[in-house]
Amino acid sequence: MPIAHKVVAITGASSGIGEATARHLASLGAIVVLGARRTERLDKLVAEIAADGGTAAAIRVDVTEPADLRALVDTAVERFGRLDVLVGNAGITRIGLMAELDVAGWSAMVDVNVKGILNGIAAALPTFHRQGRGHLVTVVSTSGLKIVPTQAVYAGTKNAVRTFLEALRQENTDGVLRTTSISPGYVRTELIDTAVDDPAVREEVRRSMAELGIDPVAVARAIAFAIDQPDDVEIGDLTIRPTRQG
Ligand code: NDP
Repeated sequence: MPIAHKVVAITGASSGIGEATARHLASLGAIVVLGARRTERLDKLVAEIAADGGTAAAIRVDVTEPADLRALVDTAVERFGRLDVLVGNAGITRIGLMAELDVAGWSAMVDVNVKGILNGIAAALPTFHRQGRGHLVTVVSTSGLKIVPTQAVYAGTKNAVRTFLEALRQENTDGVLRTTSISPGYVRTELIDTAVDDPAVREEVRRSMAELGIDPVAVARAIAFAIDQPDDVEIGDLTIRPTRQG
């Protein structure tokens, strides 16, 4: 099945990469089901996609709540008959040396970036197996590929997800499930707005992100590429980073 008419649920669709992915997939004819906590943004996005001739629905999703992920999957199935793809995109980061002991930040990253993806897997797998087909796409990070100081826990959460997907791939060689890990480098989004408490450091990170970061639509195109493959072709890993990123 080509990308047009596929039903794609996206977590973290209210800004950045998730929003760009929703717009891009909808422009290619996919039906998008959007989840995030900021519903006013989702509702606006649904209306804009509809005004452009696309099809979208939205539901409030906090990925730390298993029931919210089940509701996202149910919305896709009840409104559009099936779920072809779940894009596990919602994520947060905190930047800081481990010695700063940002225990609350570490915990939040594990809750959203790791448990949030597990909640999505738990919600979608039964539907994928019942349908005899499904595709799980996760947005991980180049932080997990090149480990740098100040991003240890964030990188660890992303590599945990990479591990889950490789295991899922090996456990599902019957052709039912495709798994894809997308690793963006620096992307110009709101991600860093809550990443650092010190306003001066935050401004500095923002400035370098604005200079070096790529447009989120670059990641959206990569996600579309993975989704658009024929059923017997799985794009396992894709890295998209600024050409000038070290
Ligand atoms: P944004 O901050 O713009 O988007 C993050 C999204 O995640 C928002 O839509 C937010 O929605 C959602 N989100 C956060 N917490 C929760 C939660 N508990 N439940 C549901 N949704 C949540 O950043 P990006 O677009 O950059 O981030 C998207 C993904 O890309 C993340 O996984 C991030 O780690 C990854 N990434 C980003 C890179 C970058 O340079 N920007 C680089 C590599 C990876 P809301 O607040 O409305 O719930």
